[in-house]
Amino acid sequence: RCVATPASSSPAVAAVATDVPAKMKAWAYDEYGDTGVLKLDEAVSVPAVGDDQVLVRVAAAALNPVDSKRRMGKFKATDSPLPTVPGYDMAGVVVKVGSQVKSLKEGDEVYGHISEKVLEGPKQFGSLAEYTAVEEKLVALKPKNIDFAQAAGLPLAIETAHEGLERAGFSAGKSILVLGGAGGVGSLIIQLAKQVFGASKVAATASSPKLELLKSLGADVAIDYTKENFEDMPEKYDVVFDAVGQGDKAVKVVKEGGSVVVLTGAVTPPGFRFVVTSDGSVLAKLNPYLESGKVKPVVDPKGPFSFPQVVEAFSYLETGRATGKVVISPI
Ligand code: NDP
Repeated sequence: RCVATPASSSPAVAAVATDVPAKMKAWAYDEYGDTGVLKLDEAVSVPAVGDDQVLVRVAAAALNPVDSKRRMGKFKATDSPLPTVPGYDMAGVVVKVGSQVKSLKEGDEVYGHISEKVLEGPKQFGSLAEYTAVEEKLVALKPKNIDFAQAAGLPLAIETAHEGLERAGFSAGKSILVLGGAGGVGSLIIQLAKQVFGASKVAATASSPKLELLKSLGADVAIDYTKENFEDMPEKYDVVFDAVGQGDKAVKVVKEGGSVVVLTGAVTPPGFRFVVTSDGSVLAKLNPYLESGKVKPVVDPKGPFSFPQVVEAFSYLETGRATGKVVISPI
């Protein structure tokens, strides 16, 4: 049969908009459990784009401990329904915009943490996928001087560091002790405290091989937790930021009237815990510090892990020994 094709609907003309396939590759699980539940699915539907959302072709993603806790079913009661495509952090290129999107367009390079609330109704279709849909307000333009892999490691961790410092009332001239200074969040708490908030003194804890890293990030004092107990040392701090789960010890080294921020584990008064809220405007505010190189992404040197190596990457993150961020790139 011979079908005449009008010029206006020839394939070349029809393909003007960025081509987005109907199906994509994504990591997914349909039951809670250890890393064994993760499967690379070659035919997941590309998420629909809401009016206030953009569709991002994901170039790189990063893992967070909360991805593991969620996969283990710890937030079952408030989680999105299974099957789940995990992943909160991503960097990539906008390929479609919703009708209400104001400041982003196709082709923009963005990064962000895609679920406004980490634990309450996080997105069912996360960032460990070729495409993910995310609200415009949760992302920001990617700093030009860093690549997708570096950018993907930042959002959840840097937003947590920033929100914690703000909630603690941290400000110029104050001192801070960071528990877990070499991890994804800790490496950014040290840098933000020093470079953005104007700390007078930053102390941080890590094991022996990571002390040099703490110094390079701006720590004035690097405490080797394998040799010294910070809680037995005489120094007291205006703020103690606990990214390890040592809330009971943290309160022993805070000054009278100071603040103790706890990300995980039991809370001992006057310490308090919070859960990060994703906010693209925080990324936009911090972009100049990233672009000037004052704040640097720390990508764990064991990575970036390739997309097929996601299970290996999770196993590594779950050792609790990662340095900076465990990144998946390219996707
Ligand atoms: P990481 O997996 O990146 O932390 C790993 C780091 O922790 C390693 O570098 C390790 O250093 C360090 N570490 C482990 N034990 C100790 C210790 N006793 N003293 C000092 N350092 C230690 O985790 P993240 O930074 O991403 O997250 C930290 C915690 O905060 C997690 O429990 C996470 O779920 C939680 N979190 C909570 C959020 C919230 O909103 N409430 C948001 C983000 C994270 P070494 O090898 O030297 O021991």
